[in-house]
Amino acid sequence: MNAPARHTDSYYAASSLPQPTHPVLQGELIADVCVVGGGFSGLNAAIELAERGLSVVLLEARKIGWGASGRNGGQLIRGVGHGLDQFANIIGADGVRQIKLMGLEAVDIVRQRIERFQIPCDLTWGYCDLANKPKDLQGFAEDAEELRSLGYRHETRLLQADEMHSVVGSERYVGGLIDMGSGHLHPLNLALGEAAVAQQLGVQLFEQSAVTRIDYGTEVKVHTAQGSVRAKTLVLGCNAYLNNLNPELSGKVLPAGSYIIATEPLSEEQAHELLPQNMAVCDQRVALDYYRLSADRRLLFGGACHYSGRDPKDIAAYMRPKMLEVFPQLAATRIDYQWAGMIGIGANRLPQIGRLKDQPNVYYAQAYSGHGLNATHLAGKLLAEAISGQHSGGFDLFARVPHITFAGGKHLRSPLLALGMLWHRMKEWV
Ligand SMILES: Cc1cc2nc3c(=O)[nH]c(=O)nc-3n(C[C@H](O)[C@H](O)[C@H](O)COP(=O)(O)OP(=O)(O)OC[C@H]3O[C@@H](n4cnc5c(N)ncnc54)[C@H](O)[C@@H]3O)c2cc1C
Repeated sequence: MNAPARHTDSYYAASSLPQPTHPVLQGELIADVCVVGGGFSGLNAAIELAERGLSVVLLEARKIGWGASGRNGGQLIRGVGHGLDQFANIIGADGVRQIKLMGLEAVDIVRQRIERFQIPCDLTWGYCDLANKPKDLQGFAEDAEELRSLGYRHETRLLQADEMHSVVGSERYVGGLIDMGSGHLHPLNLALGEAAVAQQLGVQLFEQSAVTRIDYGTEVKVHTAQGSVRAKTLVLGCNAYLNNLNPELSGKVLPAGSYIIATEPLSEEQAHELLPQNMAVCDQRVALDYYRLSADRRLLFGGACHYSGRDPKDIAAYMRPKMLEVFPQLAATRIDYQWAGMIGIGANRLPQIGRLKDQPNVYYAQAYSGHGLNATHLAGKLLAEAISGQHSGGFDLFARVPHITFAGGKHLRSPLLALGMLWHRMKEWV
């Protein structure tokens, strides 16, 4: 028998809610929908489907929240994708506007889920984009204007260099954009809370039940080591961890390693000095720094990315200098936790939400490009609407945008991305 699966040794795993064990799938089950992947994509699709009256079986290879959903920066930031206007020639200017509005709605879906089901996950409002260069400030002004034009109902405020100390105790930044409609939370506890909600709604959850083979057809049959599920519809929500389960989909996602360290708990004064308003923050570089305080006042400092497919041997040694560049005052602070996770990057950075052309009963959501906490929740809703025959139009907008398959297959994709990212970073130096 396999050893029980464990979460990666993160601050989140060490501070998680009780983790109920879900059974291993054995024997054959029949359901309306089989969902593969127990991260936010799978869990939210399952919740939304069950709420629409469909019977759902969810299969997770390891543990609920084991993937990116249980290890991420916990930054709940408005919006989906990047540079959405590039899609106007495919879905029209109105389609682009609809997707922008859905990017705002996505945060509300998370907010409502947490409020309605009372999920204890340390949700805290307040986020600030940090400008590394004066040019970034121009972009923030445009973002703020766009939010106004979309009717964004939360406070946003541009900050100049001399106001930055009100948000972050570092000399590194030349300005910022505060957004009180974004924030941060404990992602593993959100995933565990959502799993409990799914179960209450009748979803059958299985852990340590990796899908090894899929027989496609008008009815799909999904195989695990000890069981199988027959279902009218299949949802694949495995993102960067999909591997070769479906090569067509995994070819459209580049897995990239991102790393987080968590300090020892800071004193109230120290925490206040670093992040006086307890906001989550991200800078604007391609390999960005993202950081925030945990509920017990640790600094969780994250950074992207390794595109080589190889994680640094010592994540703390790799990340600590980055943290000290921002906060030299933490030179004597202990690092208690260090961990890695895989981000799924798509070429055009629009989340890939759709269904397979040749298998119209197989739906998927993936490639959130490091900005998936909110987008996964939107994806769950859009998938459930489409599968249950509710036509809001949102699913079709995403599904109409084509996504290229990265050249080079599984062995060359990562080195190619590494080269591409190096190019983007070199552009940052000039
Ligand atoms: C270090 C890091 C920091 C991040 N920070 C942020 C952030 O601050 N804000 C933000 O918005 N986004 C962030 N992201 C991105 C965000 O976490 C992801 O976009 C999101 O969690 C993706 O959810 P998912 O359910 O699609 O995938 P995952 O959470 O990765 O879940 C996929 C699941 O599928 C399972 N699986 C794979 N293959 C099989 C199989 N054959 N059978 C059964 N199950 C299978 C895996 O075990 C896994 O649990 C970060 C990501 C990382 C890695």
